[in-house]
Amino acid sequence: MAETYDIVIIGGGAAGFTAGIYAARDRCRALLLERVAAGGQVLNCEHIENYPGFPDGIAGYTLGPLLQQQAMHLGLAVQLAEVEAVRLEGELQVVQTGDGVVRVKTLIIATGSSFATLGIPGEEAFLGRGVSHCAACDGAMFMERPVAVIGGGDAALDEALYLTQYASQVTLVHHRDTLRACQLLQERAQANTKLTFHWHTVVRTIEGDTVVQRLQIEDVKTGERSVLEVPGSFPTSVSPQTPSFSMAWCRSTCRGRSSQICGCARPSPASWLPAMCVAILHGN
Ligand SMILES: Cc1cc2nc3c(=O)[nH]c(=O)nc-3n(C[C@H](O)[C@H](O)[C@H](O)COP(=O)(O)OP(=O)(O)OC[C@H]3O[C@@H](n4cnc5c(N)ncnc54)[C@H](O)[C@@H]3O)c2cc1C
Repeated sequence: MAETYDIVIIGGGAAGFTAGIYAARDRCRALLLERVAAGGQVLNCEHIENYPGFPDGIAGYTLGPLLQQQAMHLGLAVQLAEVEAVRLEGELQVVQTGDGVVRVKTLIIATGSSFATLGIPGEEAFLGRGVSHCAACDGAMFMERPVAVIGGGDAALDEALYLTQYASQVTLVHHRDTLRACQLLQERAQANTKLTFHWHTVVRTIEGDTVVQRLQIEDVKTGERSVLEVPGSFPTSVSPQTPSFSMAWCRSTCRGRSSQICGCARPSPASWLPAMCVAILHGN
């Protein structure tokens, strides 16, 4: 007979563990299911300095396990498993993982976001062969070589600044005239002599033979096209990750019920903010 929990949380990022801490402190019988490793996207953050309580900042790979440690210390059960499907059986949700099923009264989906593709020719073909979504993982491969970072938010500047440790030159390609990143990161970027900017510019194609060699870029104001000779390209935008099971689950669970009962919350006005503090707010 499958175990029954009060709360199951899908996703072990900052949002999921925050929800888990609250559930455990309320003495709910709670289980968190994570498919990869505790921390989620935090593990890709080289240095986090906007999380209260760490005056010198903290490395993401240090914070990730701490989130799990704190939640487990309070009584949250954590299991490494990917959720494949969810269905409603009577008043209980049945959560299917590769290891079996668990039954639960309340389900929290905190599956975060994943990297959005630019949808341009060459992007998929060169993934892992010059196209990367993780500077911390792949940056060292571009030692003393030029790279491009595509984007203009916090993650883009984080990645670009990190890459300046290795690359000979980092070019930020951004489709607008101004950056969305916080002012502090903008100041650091402007002061870094290894960083140059291609404003109001988009990447049209990524080209090479077996690995990336160049990007075809276009100035969206003038329509002028040019070539950026780089062996490495780091697209940085993300989009919410909505597992296929969650939409089906929401539709079946919400039928004939109010959104408070079914719990399919609409995104809050702050949900566009790509920051951990917002993830935690949502986790609440
Ligand atoms: C390069 C970079 C730098 C950043 N720097 C900062 C920063 O300095 N400060 C800041 O505040 N924010 C920063 N962010 C943003 C921050 O990391 C995210 O906003 C935050 O981690 C999101 O947390 P989350 O819990 O919502 O989702 P995620 O961290 O994405 O966690 C979701 C988890 O769900 C799991 N999951 C998904 N589907 C399933 C499934 N079917 N079954 C089981 N598990 C599943 C995933 O494996 C993942 O672990 C940065 C992001 C990036 C990419």
